[in-house]
Amino acid sequence: MNAMKRICVFCGSSSGARPEYARAARQMGSVLAQRKIGLVFGGGRVGMMGQLAQAALENNGEVIGVIPRELHERKVAFTGLSDLRVVGSMHERKTLMAELSDGFVALPGGLGTLEELFEILTWGQLGMHHKPCGLLNVADYFTPLLAFLDQVMEQGFIDAPHRAMILSAEEPEELLRQFERHEPPVADKATWALGMEKG
Ligand code: AMP
Repeated sequence: MNAMKRICVFCGSSSGARPEYARAARQMGSVLAQRKIGLVFGGGRVGMMGQLAQAALENNGEVIGVIPRELHERKVAFTGLSDLRVVGSMHERKTLMAELSDGFVALPGGLGTLEELFEILTWGQLGMHHKPCGLLNVADYFTPLLAFLDQVMEQGFIDAPHRAMILSAEEPEELLRQFERHEPPVADKATWALGMEKG
């Protein structure tokens, strides 16, 4: 695939229970900046998001925050971002984040992170974009989720090429290598589901 200009990172608005999580957020921010890949993120100053953006800025990286007006008014935005886009809704936010980015990474996080990851994967499996998506499996945080996704495939709700779309690695550099090698699935989910119906 072409060189990645920007990557969107979804991650927790808290830092979680283990210090490895925030450490990984800082590492991700530094690696992106060092590789001259811009960071697109939720624009928050709290938790993993704050650590990620801070590390990217400290390494002179490009950082674009995209935040809904309602959250911005509640003063949770990262101050000092040269590029903070304030949008009207959560839906507009995700659309803009997707347009600005050449790939998507989830770091440990909660419902917001999971929802963002799964929405972008859903768009990918429908062929609405062909950009790589993956998660950073810090300290085995996502291992139970990956096992569940295997079960979703075994039970016939995802086909193997779409399960394989969900990249994962323990280190940012390795995940970015997988992004560079990524080949999007040939068939989209709607085509596959229609084929299953016909039997
Ligand atoms: P969660 O994983 O539930 O903490 O939600 C984090 C994700 O949802 C981030 O990737 C953000 O895009 C969004 N989000 C949730 N809370 C905030 C916040 N306080 N400020 C900015 N974005 C947030």
